[in-house]
Amino acid sequence: MRTSIATVSLSGSLTEKLTAAARAGFDGVEIFENDLLASPLTPEEIRARCADLGLGVDLYQPMRDIEAVPAEEFARNLRRARHKFQLMERLGADTVLVCSSVSPLAADDDALAAGQLSELADLAQDFGIRVAYEALAWGRHVSTYDHAWRIVEAAGHPALGTCLDSFHILSRSSDPKDLEGIEDIPGEKIFFLQLADAPLLGMDVLQWSRHHRCFPGQGGFDVAGLVKHVLRTGYDGPLSLEVFNDVFRQAEAGPTAVDARRSLLILQEEAGIRALPAPAAPTGVAFAELVTHDAEPLAALLTGLGFARTARHRGKPVELWEQGEARVLVNTGPAALPRFRLRSRGGTPVDGTTLTALGLESPDPAAAARRAEALLAPVLPRRRAAEDAPLDAVAAPDGTELFLCATNRPELPNWRSDFADVPHAPAASDAVRIDHVALTQPWHHFDEAVLFHRGVLGLHAQESVDVADPYGLLRSRAVTNTDGSVRLPLTVGAAPGDDTAHARHIALATDDVVAAARRFTEAGGRLLAIPANYYDDLAARFEFADGELDTYRDLGILYDRDAHGVFRHCYTHTVGRVFFELVQREGGYQGYGAANAPVRLAAQHAAR
Ligand code: MG
Ligand code: MG
Repeated sequence: MRTSIATVSLSGSLTEKLTAAARAGFDGVEIFENDLLASPLTPEEIRARCADLGLGVDLYQPMRDIEAVPAEEFARNLRRARHKFQLMERLGADTVLVCSSVSPLAADDDALAAGQLSELADLAQDFGIRVAYEALAWGRHVSTYDHAWRIVEAAGHPALGTCLDSFHILSRSSDPKDLEGIEDIPGEKIFFLQLADAPLLGMDVLQWSRHHRCFPGQGGFDVAGLVKHVLRTGYDGPLSLEVFNDVFRQAEAGPTAVDARRSLLILQEEAGIRALPAPAAPTGVAFAELVTHDAEPLAALLTGLGFARTARHRGKPVELWEQGEARVLVNTGPAALPRFRLRSRGGTPVDGTTLTALGLESPDPAAAARRAEALLAPVLPRRRAAEDAPLDAVAAPDGTELFLCATNRPELPNWRSDFADVPHAPAASDAVRIDHVALTQPWHHFDEAVLFHRGVLGLHAQESVDVADPYGLLRSRAVTNTDGSVRLPLTVGAAPGDDTAHARHIALATDDVVAAARRFTEAGGRLLAIPANYYDDLAARFEFADGELDTYRDLGILYDRDAHGVFRHCYTHTVGRVFFELVQREGGYQGYGAANAPVRLAAQHAAR
């Protein structure tokens, strides 16, 4: 099906918006009137620009407050419409969006509305234009799709149809019964379909619509379910994104357009109208890769945590550190740095010691890469160097490199064969693996990152949680695989600049966090100091065995409990923009200690 995007969904000048939409692969655009008014280009030039870019002008919008008004007012509206139709003719747009009236002059009179819309359609027809009538969720008298359709049906004009908008429909009701009526509308009378998702917020619907819409799959609406109803009518027009969002208005248009189109591809897959390579969800974390200018502090930290330096890359300054099933690569290659630099959209490049890549165990690396490519993720060169194993790798939206690995499958290319063993003392423990890797995101990336990890990698998104920071608010949402062997909490600050203020971390799972913490401090490591007030509060909230709480207080171990079990965890100091966490999960505890995060964040600020 044709895909389209409203220019209002992207930031920048009209030219920038059109270029971004075309590059992302959209077939057409809805030209938003304000974008045209602000453009130095004539309508003919815009039309030519669209044609050069291979974009159709699928819709011109909006035309407001037209119908069910006194005759004199309607005469003025027709005069206004004639001007707009002349403009659309120059622009090459053949469909106009008319929103249901919010004017105090409008009467609650369906027959009058139908009669006047019919007159408008008569005029439109002279210009070869079709009128698509849409119910705004806050329309004065017409606020539901079925009401708008009844008026269109009563008018019975060939140049008048309806426009369905998933936000206006689903913000009023997501009751499946209320959506069934969509299938009563003949497909050829649905002139246009606009799609947006939104988080489920209890707020004024107009503000909700103007500021918090997001791309399908990023919010809480069942947009794919709605699309299925519409397709059953025989509708074969464009699937068009119309998203008003405060973040997208500020983010670069290019990446937002790619994000938008990815969401539409996933939506089409969910609605059963597009086949994509099936997801091959990762089954474990093969390694985490850190890039640093100065390996010494990192080496000391890893040694203190019980890691052994087991191997060295055959051709590059990359070392492999291992402990049990946990593997960390330390890359000190100066040549590698610019390439590994994380991109922060509209922000500063991330520098210093940082986590730049993850190896994810994949049941089928090539298939996982094909899906990623089909969903517009940049596929990275299979070899970083001639002598390297040809690994499949893709870039996440924030620039993190994801290597799709098959560590224990000798028949497939293996990253481990790039490394030659070096003599080493044994690691401290066999019972260690990577529990989770927390990937702080540039602030523009949050919804996009969640959709990427869910839609591209086949991970499941958990509940979103807000965490208070002494100097702001963090939003965190984990993506995980089914058995919890891959857990990636994605975290973002609430404002631009916050993305560079928070480090990423690698959490190591151990069977005995007290022993691991002791070993670390006895080796000279520094754990994050936690205030005594925290432990007084713990004593009030939970019952502990004799001496248990004292142990936690002495070491700086935090404690949490959920319906499933218990979580004990502690943090190392931060090196560059990375720190480690030691965690012990018991009894199927599901979370990440979010209740303790404000204390941890305050302690990290204090330690700086
Ligand atoms: Mg709309
Ligand atoms: Mg953590």
